[in-house]
Amino acid sequence: MLPAADSALAVVHEHILSCTACPLHIRRTQAVPGTGPASARIMVVGEGPGETEDRLGKPFVGAAGNVLTRLLESIGLSREDTFITNVVKCRPPGNRDPEPSEVEACSEFLDAQVEIVRPDVILILGRHALARLLPGSPGITQVHGRKVIRGERLYVPLYHPAAALYNGSLMRTLEEDMLKVRGYLDAAEAERRHAAAEAAVDETPEVDPRHQLSLFD
Ligand code: SF4
Repeated sequence: MLPAADSALAVVHEHILSCTACPLHIRRTQAVPGTGPASARIMVVGEGPGETEDRLGKPFVGAAGNVLTRLLESIGLSREDTFITNVVKCRPPGNRDPEPSEVEACSEFLDAQVEIVRPDVILILGRHALARLLPGSPGITQVHGRKVIRGERLYVPLYHPAAALYNGSLMRTLEEDMLKVRGYLDAAEAERRHAAAEAAVDETPEVDPRHQLSLFD
């Protein structure tokens, strides 16, 4: 039997696969809900499926996907341990930008995924994902690689791997920003361990001093 969070994620993904809430459903081959376990500590959010993703039903499987895989592996993460999805789950025709109304129609699915996975860090790939997840933020050129805390969530905006594919300096920036992500993850892990250790101390029963004295009777 699947753990509760994985079951909840599967239910959301079934809804996505049959969704007709915006015009993007008309020309899609299939919707692309996302991949990865509900237990993922890191979540990646891109803009929308491209041609290969639309055909295969998986996010980031084209050339940009290969870059993403390499970037994750460069800081010791695997795709299998990462939850990967997009702002819109169906391919905009001709890879055009998603319309605000399409982003809005699809927002409940991304919100549900974030709520179920509750990752330590959400990597925001590109300006559309940035506008959706951190509305009002300065542009990607100003905030890439920075840690942004909104509510109880930690976000790191990054350039989209597709933009870096044919731009060497952007690729180097992306690689440097990923090293910062490793640092943020390590800090989150250390914080979690510290909180767990403190909770364990709180739960340790106090020893009755009379019992301690009895050792020396
Ligand atoms: Fe539904 Fe989102 Fe696909 Fe639009 S893009 S049809 S809202 S799943």
